[in-house]
Formats: sequence, C-alpha cells, structure tokens
Amino acid sequence: KNFEEIGLIPALERVLKERGFTEPSAIQSGSIPVLLEKDTDFIGLAQTGTGKTAAFGLPLLQKIDVAKRVTQGIILCPTRELAIQTFKELNTFGKYLKGIGMENVYGGTPVHAQAKRIQKNAPHIIVGTPGRVIDLLKRKSIILEDVRFFILDEADEMLNMGFEQEIKKILEFASDDANTWLFSATMPKSIRGMVKKYMNDPVEVAV
Ligand code: AMP
Repeated sequence: KNFEEIGLIPALERVLKERGFTEPSAIQSGSIPVLLEKDTDFIGLAQTGTGKTAAFGLPLLQKIDVAKRVTQGIILCPTRELAIQTFKELNTFGKYLKGIGMENVYGGTPVHAQAKRIQKNAPHIIVGTPGRVIDLLKRKSIILEDVRFFILDEADEMLNMGFEQEIKKILEFASDDANTWLFSATMPKSIRGMVKKYMNDPVEVAV
C-alpha cells in the first residue's frame, strides 16, 4: 500500500510527496494503519534510520484535534540531538496542518520563559527529553490531563541514558485512557517490565 492507501489525509500526503517519500518503509507500513484505525498501545521494534519518526509522527499529527487548544501528544527522546531532529521532522510533516502548535523541550536551555510559554499556549505536541519534561510537569507548565498519546522513541536508549525513573514517573502521570506508543531497537527485560506494568495489550510490530 502507498501512503494514500494507508489512510493519511491530503495535508500529510502532500508533504511526503514534496519530500519524495513514495513508498512507506516497513515500520511505517506496520504502524501507520494500526495507529490511525485503533486506539491502542503499540510497540514498534525497529532500528534507527528505518523511518520511525514518520511511523509515529504521521498518525500522531493526524489524530491531533487542532481545534482543542490543549497538549495532546508527548514524544520523549533519549538525547537533545534526537529531540531536536524529531521536532524538526514533525514540524515539516505538519506544515499544512493549520493552527498546529508544537514545542521542543530539553535541558541546558533557560526553563522559566519556556515554562510560561507552554502554560500560555498549551502546544498540541511536545517533543523533548525526559528530564526537562519532568521539570515542566513539576512547574505545572505541561498539563497531562488531555494528553492522549505518549510516545517513547528509542526506549532502550532512554534506559541506557538513565531515564528509567523519569519515564516511569511520566507514565504514572499518564491518564488511564491515554495510549502509549513505544519504539525501540531492542527489547531488554527492563523494557518488557515497563510494558507489562504500564501498557495495555499493545499491538506489537517488529521489522
Ligand atoms: P528516521 O528513522 O525516522 O530517522 O528516518 C531516517 C531517514 O529516512 C530520514 O532522513 C527520513 O527523512 C527518511 N525517510 C523516512 N521514511 C521514508 C520513506 N518512506 N521514504 C523515503 N525516505 C524516508
């Protein structure tokens, strides 16, 4: 199936066309239809560089209710570099979605003005590293009440970076009816344990 046939809206298809993405990659074929059609937890096992960002980013963008000015999706990344790269990619994919708001958050930058801005604007999507997200949660800047999608990108790397407690805290904050989409290159016991504890009957796709 091509991108049109897997159910993406024209505003997203148009960007893919512009970027010269003709065929979905394996992880995209495995994730996009499921994530668009179902409200489910999801595990995607895929190496880096296989098109993971679009695999979760496109369904996320499509599922955001732009008319509702509340934070609906949070993407957690292991490093600042990946958080920046993912944010840029999401911005590009979302360029024809009118009124969509996103914020990129990570450590090592001034937090106060950012906290105020997020409180005021309630961006639909927040892309960041776990430490800064926790900081903004504690400041009651990020509000999780309406978050429907928690995305863990490179979950194994986040554990390697020592973010286990932060991730658990965020998942505990997560409301019961939110979905978690976890992407990882490997599935160590520590992640299996988190899956069992915090995720609900996830659809699992390995490529
Ligand atoms: P990612 O794994 O998300 O970092 O993507 C790796 C690279 O592949 C990025 O440069 C993407 O822009 C590119 N890419 C992702 N999906 C596709 C696709 N379906 N067709 C062509 N290039 C893609």
